[in-house]
Amino acid sequence: MKNHAIVVATVLILVFSFGGARAFAQGNADAVDAHMAAARDAAGFDFTGTLARLCVAPPRVPDTVRDVAPGPAPARDTWFIEPAKVFDNLYFVGSKIHNSWALTSNEGIILIDTLYTYNSEEEIVGGLKKLGLDPAKVKYVIISHAHADHVGGAKLMQDRYSSRIVMGGPDWDSIEKSVNGYPRGKPKRDIVADDGQKITLGDTSVTLIATPGHTPGTFSMIFTVKDRGKPLTVAYSGGTAFNFPSTAANFDTYIKSQSKMAAAAASANATILMSNHSEFDAATTKIRMLASRKPGEPHPFEIGKEAVARYFVVTGECAQAERIRLAQPPK
Ligand SMILES: [Zn+2]
Repeated sequence: MKNHAIVVATVLILVFSFGGARAFAQGNADAVDAHMAAARDAAGFDFTGTLARLCVAPPRVPDTVRDVAPGPAPARDTWFIEPAKVFDNLYFVGSKIHNSWALTSNEGIILIDTLYTYNSEEEIVGGLKKLGLDPAKVKYVIISHAHADHVGGAKLMQDRYSSRIVMGGPDWDSIEKSVNGYPRGKPKRDIVADDGQKITLGDTSVTLIATPGHTPGTFSMIFTVKDRGKPLTVAYSGGTAFNFPSTAANFDTYIKSQSKMAAAAASANATILMSNHSEFDAATTKIRMLASRKPGEPHPFEIGKEAVARYFVVTGECAQAERIRLAQPPK
């Protein structure tokens, strides 16, 4: 056994000293291909948007603080979409691109994510009213992470309806530190989310799972919805893209969070995967499909436990591929 180890070590030394760099690069390329293939197989036809965004040319982000002012609001027809009832107790009040969800209970509403500042008034406040829900009954607003496309309506809900705002500590910090990001004012620090914490309102609760990576304070969630009375568990992925500073340590954090959320989803028997971008969970497409759902047909969001597990294989494998690519010198 010992001799065998010495032989292996000697061969490795020889390989690395004679044209070793090339062999190493080839090994890396093979490993990247293997992770990409695993991600592609796991994505199937369920998560093509997630696969495209994470495995096909993800961005390289310099390790500097980005604290840019929001640009002008884009034209309304690029984002506006009608709200919709999606489950007995879950309503979509998002835009064409970003999701915001209203989870109802017997004591009010838990709102999950709040779009941009420019469209939260019309999509969320306006959407709730169109659906016959009272925005003043939003008792909690859970923010998956403090990027402008999810935290934009938090201040409005806090100021106008005294909703309690729940967010990860590091993301509260990033809001407080920001100089340029909130020209119309910041939400004030409120509830600091804790890993495993339950936000409970009457007969409904949302379990918060710390999944740092996309931002340091990203939280994912587990909650129950009802489809024509049948309870179903949702795994809500709180942060997806690789637009964090491209360091190996950040990718390690991200990869660990994907496994952690996969385990949480599996132990909760989640059969639904939701996200804060339609790109990742096909929310707007599924909501359109819902309109023509026939009696007895499964809910378009109910994809099954096995498919939910595959989602986190896609995010984890693409992250592993990108982590290896980081180590390669530019061509
Ligand atoms: Zn984000």
